[in-house]
Order: sequence, then structure tokens, then C-alpha cells
Amino acid sequence: LLSVAGLRKSYGDRVVLADIDLSISTHDVVCLIGASGSGKSTLLRCLNLLEPIDDGVITFDGREISDPLIDPREVRREIGMVFQAYNLFPHLTVLENCVLAPVKVHGMEKDEARARAEELLTRFGLAAHSSAHPDSLSGGQQQRAALVRALCTRPRLLLLDEITAALDPILVGEVLEIVRAEAAAGMTMILATHEMAFAREVATSVCFLDGGRILEQGAPDQLFGDPREERTKEFLARIL
Ligand code: ATP
Ligand code: MG
Repeated sequence: LLSVAGLRKSYGDRVVLADIDLSISTHDVVCLIGASGSGKSTLLRCLNLLEPIDDGVITFDGREISDPLIDPREVRREIGMVFQAYNLFPHLTVLENCVLAPVKVHGMEKDEARARAEELLTRFGLAAHSSAHPDSLSGGQQQRAALVRALCTRPRLLLLDEITAALDPILVGEVLEIVRAEAAAGMTMILATHEMAFAREVATSVCFLDGGRILEQGAPDQLFGDPREERTKEFLARIL
């Protein structure tokens, strides 16, 4: 579904991503792990064309989306992204937040968008809050709403950047529950996470980023249980 070859990205003369090669098939759940500053967020932002890249090729569904002639908005219609800080529109209700993009960006009929949003809000325990404004919800509820909003557009690939990092530990579970359900339903996802136990459980593949490179990639049991690289071992020893 997505492939990255030779991706390179610098800010000024600081190289942030180098030699990134990555290949993701439909239904894969790829977890990006690595120390703060290793480039996880930057990589996700590059994939969603939120950051220009200096070199390399990104192909999505057979199309070279790193081509400067590609309209990023068109790509973002199919690649959804949720960030660490829930970015719901504060002046809209939860339901309105969820209906907005499908109608405005995807040209979905309003009734259809509403029906889908209501179904997802119900499935993820937010039906009672659909006419509330985001600031009256808990952090976990807001982040669940942000996930529902991303799912409403029926993305073919979902990028999740530390979506539980800003949450109270007791709220983390309810957000991960949605990710778990989507993974089980076959959603293709790439997630940057510090939740190692969750990564091990949900990932089909784990990438360890170190200084802007994918130092090691493997199945979760291999990467967590028997890492090949010294740097990976050090990182896991520190964090686990
Ligand atoms: P964290 O776990 O803390 O979220 P990360 O792995 O997501 O870290 P990135 O945010 O991708 O790391 O940052 C990678 C490097 O790029 C860091 O050294 C950071 O300082 C640098 N960087 C990120 N965004 C910018 C920017 N807009 N301008 C300059 N440097 C940046
Ligand atoms: Mg980050």
C-alpha cells in the first residue's frame, strides 16, 4: 500500500531522517519506536505530505505521492492522521467535528456522514457526548473523538502520532481500545508510540528509529524479545 525508498529530510543542516526504506501492506500495523528526537513524528508528517522531503520516493497505492505535482489535500483524503494533542475544533460539537471533513473534503452526503459518525461514536462509547463541545470532555474522550473523526473519512491508511502521550494513564486504555479494534478490523496503521506493551501486542512489525534511521525492523516478538542491534537493546533496557 505504501512504500518509502531512500527518504531523507533535514532541517537546515541538521539531518533528521536518512536512508528511510519502509514498505507497508494493507492490514499492516507498523509501530515506530525510538528515543525522543529520533524522527518518529517527522517521518509520519513526511508520509502525510505535511513536510517536504529532501530526497527519496514515497509511493502510495502505486502512485508517487512525493512528486511535487501531487496535491497534498488529495493524498490526505486517503491517509488520515491523529496527533498527540487532540485537535478537535472547539467551536463545533463532537458530531459536527466528525461530519465536517467527510462532507467538505470528501463530498459525502450530509445524512450519510452523520449516520457514519453516529455509528462510530456509539461504537466507541461517545454517543452521549455527540452534541457536547470538546472542552467539556475528558482528555481520553476527546482523543477518542479525534480518532472517530479520522475514521469517519474512511482512510485507507491511518497515521497515529503518540495519541496517548498527553493522557492521564487511566485514560490511555480507552483510547488504545479503539486502535486495537481498528487493528482487528484490518485498518492499516502506522503509529509512533511509547507504549511498548501495546506495540508488542498490536503491531505486525516494529521499527526502531535511532538518529533518524530505521536501525532495526522486525516482528514484535523478535524486536522486543531478541533485538539484534546494541542500540535497540540499550533503548529497550532503558524504557522497559
Ligand atoms: P518524540 O518522541 O519526542 O516525539 P520524535 O521521534 O517524534 O520525538 P521528531 O519530532 O521527529 O522526533 O524530531 C526529530 C528531530 O527533528 C529532532 O531533533 C527535532 O528537534 C527536529 N525537528 C523537528 N521538527 C523540527 C522543525 N520544525 N524545525 C527544526 N527541527 C525540527
Ligand atoms: Mg514525536
